[in-house]
Amino acid sequence: MIEDIYPQQAKDELWLIKETKWVKKLQGIRESQFCLGNGYLSIRGSLEDHPYDAKPGAYIAGLYDRIGSQVDELVNLPNPVNFTITTIEGQKFDMCTMDVLSHERVLNMKKGLLVRRTQYRDVQKRKYNYQSMRFVSMHNKNIGVMQIVFTPLDKDCVIDVVTGINTAVTTTGGFSEGRKKHFRVKELGQHQKAGYLVSETLEQKYTVVEWSGFYYQLKNKRIFAKNNILRLKLKRNQTIIFTKIFCIKHFRHKEQHQAVKDRTFKIFKKAFYSDFATLLTRHVKAWEKLWKRADIIVEGTNELQKNLRFNIYHMLICAQDDKGFSSVGARTLSGDGYRGHIFWDADIFLLPFYLFNFSQIAKSMLLYRYNRLDQSRELARKEGFKGAKFAWESASTGQEETPEWARDIDGIISKVYTHKMEHHITADIAYAVYKYYEATDDAAFMENYGYELIFETARFWASRVTYNKRKKKYEILHVIGPDEFHVDVNNNAFTNVMAKWNLLIAHKLFNGIKKKRTIFRKIKKKLDITDREAGLWKKIATGIGITLNKNKIMEQFDGYFKLKRVSLTKTDENGIPMIPGTLKAKNIAKTQLSKQPDVLMLLYLLGDVFSSKTKNANYNFYINRTVHKSSLSSSVCAILACEMHDLSRAYNLFNVALNADISNCYGNTDEGIHAASLGGVWQAIVSGFAGVRVKKGKIWIRPIMPHYWQRLAFSFLWKKNLIKLDVLNDAIKVKVISGNKSVKVGIYDKPVSLERGRMYIFKRKISKYAKEACYY
Ligand code: BGC
Repeated sequence: MIEDIYPQQAKDELWLIKETKWVKKLQGIRESQFCLGNGYLSIRGSLEDHPYDAKPGAYIAGLYDRIGSQVDELVNLPNPVNFTITTIEGQKFDMCTMDVLSHERVLNMKKGLLVRRTQYRDVQKRKYNYQSMRFVSMHNKNIGVMQIVFTPLDKDCVIDVVTGINTAVTTTGGFSEGRKKHFRVKELGQHQKAGYLVSETLEQKYTVVEWSGFYYQLKNKRIFAKNNILRLKLKRNQTIIFTKIFCIKHFRHKEQHQAVKDRTFKIFKKAFYSDFATLLTRHVKAWEKLWKRADIIVEGTNELQKNLRFNIYHMLICAQDDKGFSSVGARTLSGDGYRGHIFWDADIFLLPFYLFNFSQIAKSMLLYRYNRLDQSRELARKEGFKGAKFAWESASTGQEETPEWARDIDGIISKVYTHKMEHHITADIAYAVYKYYEATDDAAFMENYGYELIFETARFWASRVTYNKRKKKYEILHVIGPDEFHVDVNNNAFTNVMAKWNLLIAHKLFNGIKKKRTIFRKIKKKLDITDREAGLWKKIATGIGITLNKNKIMEQFDGYFKLKRVSLTKTDENGIPMIPGTLKAKNIAKTQLSKQPDVLMLLYLLGDVFSSKTKNANYNFYINRTVHKSSLSSSVCAILACEMHDLSRAYNLFNVALNADISNCYGNTDEGIHAASLGGVWQAIVSGFAGVRVKKGKIWIRPIMPHYWQRLAFSFLWKKNLIKLDVLNDAIKVKVISGNKSVKVGIYDKPVSLERGRMYIFKRKISKYAKEACYY
């Protein structure tokens, strides 16, 4: 029965994230957690009646504006989810003014649905049942659909309904700027039983067209509403079903106003006159396809399985292949946090998920960088460097979008220096490009975009280094590494080695393409690179060093070893080491505490460059100095802990990342989901516990997982081959599902050749080193 949408959609425990009661102050968190989307369009999970204090959000990927703000901000668009029963029998119908006898919501991740069931009671003790369901179509990226089912239980009544598109929305912005709107309404009206709203972003002048229409069913009769405001009489126990369909599309400002309105209306009309069941079926089918590719089965606890799916779900709704128009912001598309800006989080933390599941999206994210290469060249030039320097925070144009001021970890407003010094992002992007190439063999991508990105970033580093005559070394001075506690340091190990890697790979690729004459000529002509310049890249790379002490510990930056050692004795309820209360934020820089992995990050990204001995020594040293004050931290440390067979620590750290937004661990989930943590969780599962790593261009598999996980299973793409991996307590099963006739991989330390279609079973080994007996 259609009236029972809630029980129908709230089955299948392992796919549900639940809210079991109404707690007003948790609204903001739920809005981010229950966000719906399809990579193009994203709608926060606000209740459709937008109660007091709600923070509704509707975003289109890549749509930023900056008027009234110091930097670009993701535009919060007029919200089409708006649907309110305003009064009932003359009383305000509302979560805050009526008794809420029960309230539940579930996010059905398998189907991309948000479903709700609330029972209200008015002052005269009359009860009302309310259910709703909504989805942002995965089948048609411009369409959203919602249904509201309402029944007065005790008496006949008159209800007033208000719907339409809510323009009273704002963008939170920076702490000193206040809330603002980044659009102005250009036109609104009614046409053929539907309403429309045309708005325009203020600076970039994108036209956004929204259509919405609704009908209701009473006694199985479908009645189209002529207006957005409606008064209806209902009998006791009579159920009314409202269905609302909306359509959103953006256009470049040059396109003709009437034409874009008509084009959007066509898309809308098709959905509006189709029936709800068809729209839902198509949407669910599209989700089925996504999960078939990206799901990970982990047989441990139910919580673990569904929280893992929560992390994957959010990656499925925040990215799309739009040929580089957008990339994924630090808070996905689920809130105003970090104003929607794109950091290294996208290229280093999220990209692997897409690369091994939906490589077209990974390509699009790299095209986002390529499309901003000219702007990055300009950034380098302005700062007196050569080549291309990528912005630390980037949005629509690729220019630097980092605000000058931000809140520090103690809440105090401090000056920001990341854009001036956190230069490693330029090497991180080159690294992501190469990783894409390695995993896809996409020669056309390299020819058209990849080589240029790698050569131009190498050029930047060649101009960024300074030669120290006394030490006979190239140095990189005045930087911030991933550990942002330490600002303006010299020779940060992470930055130095990533820059060195960038220069070396550029040199190798430059020499490599010499054989491919047409490509070589094209690149040479475009970039004017000489053999001498490429030779210099190698020379500089060889001369960039890091300091190692006698125990092979890399010094995080010059002078780090002399800083104060702080012992971390207490952990919080999530197992995160706590900074001693006596240590003030302004003094952290004088200590060896690290905000997030820095040297450890290097050991992970360039895992095949360092020996096990070096990794082990550095892991033991830095893991006790890392305080995970960033959501990017614990997942990477968990991966290294797996590699070091420090399994219980790996598991604790993994759990922190896994629950980052489910448990609001960083206290700001209301601002949006932490994107890097999503990608980090995926990497911790795949590269950490399942032990799938790329070493010298080949896949190696060395699982190590908690023994109470009975199974870890997923598939991934590697050079167009789809490989299924099933890790059991005592066996590893591998099968090439599709692709080449045979694929070479490594299992533990042994290279093996897998024939397509055949299942291979290997015995799991028992770790000699793990603190508890476990298989690896
Ligand atoms: C982290 C950065 C990260 C940024 C956005 C900061 O707190 O230190 O590494 O890129 O947040 O997530």
